[in-house]
Amino acid sequence: MKIIHRTYKFELLPNKEQKTLLGKHFGCVRYVYNHFLNERKEQYQSDKKSDNYYAQAKTLTELKKKEDTVWLKEVNSQTLQFALRSLDTAYVNFFRGNAQFPQFKSKRKKNSFTVPQHTISKTPTGKYFVSILTEQEYEPSKKTGKSVGIDLGLKDFAITSDGIKYKNNRYTKRYERQLKKAQQHLSRKAKGSNMFEKQKRKVARIHEKIANTRQDVLHKVSKDIVSNYDVICLEDLNVKGMIKNRKLSKHIADASWGTFVRFVEYKANWNDKTVIKIGRFYPSSKTCNVCGYINQDLNLSIRNWICVNGHKLDRDLNASINILKEGLKIYGEELAITKVEEKSDVSNNAHPVKPEAHHIASGVCG
Ligand SMILES: [Zn+2]
Repeated sequence: MKIIHRTYKFELLPNKEQKTLLGKHFGCVRYVYNHFLNERKEQYQSDKKSDNYYAQAKTLTELKKKEDTVWLKEVNSQTLQFALRSLDTAYVNFFRGNAQFPQFKSKRKKNSFTVPQHTISKTPTGKYFVSILTEQEYEPSKKTGKSVGIDLGLKDFAITSDGIKYKNNRYTKRYERQLKKAQQHLSRKAKGSNMFEKQKRKVARIHEKIANTRQDVLHKVSKDIVSNYDVICLEDLNVKGMIKNRKLSKHIADASWGTFVRFVEYKANWNDKTVIKIGRFYPSSKTCNVCGYINQDLNLSIRNWICVNGHKLDRDLNASINILKEGLKIYGEELAITKVEEKSDVSNNAHPVKPEAHHIASGVCG
C-alpha cells in the first residue's frame, strides 16, 4: 500500500441562489486575473519590468477598499489570491519557454476558480463541476519484468516495441459531420438571439462529447500500458511545435499525444513503474533498429522501407524498438550514476538520487 494523490470530479447541481454566488466567483476571478495581467503589461511597456505576485497581492488588498471595486470582498479571498498566483505561474512558464504569453480570460470559455483543495468549473454547456484533491491508499499493480518502447503516431495511435497496435479512433470523424452541420446552423442565426444561444450550446455539447470520448480512450490505453510494463520508454514530444504544422495539426490534436504521456506518467508514478523520455531529436524513425543505419530521406509518407543492409522495416514498429533501445540505455546510465552516488554517499552523507525522480511527474489526475 502507498499513499497517492488523486483528483475526483463531480458534477454539481446548484440552485438559483448558489448559481448566483458561483457566478460572482467566476466573475471576480476573471476580473482579478485580467486586471493584473493588464497591469503587468502596462508596467512592462513603461519600465521594462512588472510587479510579482507579492506586490500584486498588496494592490489587490487596496482594490477591495476602493468604492468601485469593493464587490471583490463578496467572494472568498483565497480564491482571488489563487487567481493572482496562477497569473504569476503563467508568467514564469512563459519566461521559461514552456508556454505562450498569458491571455486574458473570457467569459465564453471554460470558467473556473479555486478554493483550497477544490476547483470549481463551469463548462460552455452550462454544467458545474467540483474537482477534489484526495490523499488515499493505493495498491500498486504487480511487476511484470517487461520493458516497452512506444511510438506515438498518426496511422495508429500507439505502437509498442512488441508489435501491439492501439488504433487511432479518429474520435472527431464520427462527430465531425454532426459538428459541421451544427456550426453551419449557428452561422445562420442572428448573433445574440435566443436561437443563437441555444445553437451555441448545442455546438459546445458536441465538443464536450468529443473530449469525453477521447479522454476515456486515453485512460484505457495508458492503464493497459502501465499494468503490462515496468519500464516505459516514450519520445519527449514537442507536441506544440508540431501543431504549428497545419496539415498534421488536426490529427495530432485529435490523437492527444500530450495528454496521453501525462496519463502514463501519473499512472506509472502510482504503480511504482518507470517512465523514460527520449530526447525529441533522437532519430527513432530514421534509424534501422537492426544495424543502426540512418536513412536521411525518410519522410512521413513512407510506411515501410529497406535499409542499405537489406533489413525490412515497418516505420512505426522500427521506431518503437529504437525508442526501447535508447530508453534502456538512458535507464542503465542513470542506474549506474545512482550507484556511484550511493557509494560516495557513505563518505560525504549526500542524498542519493533515485533514477525515477527524473522522469515521473507528480501523480495528479487531470
Ligand atoms: Zn539495417
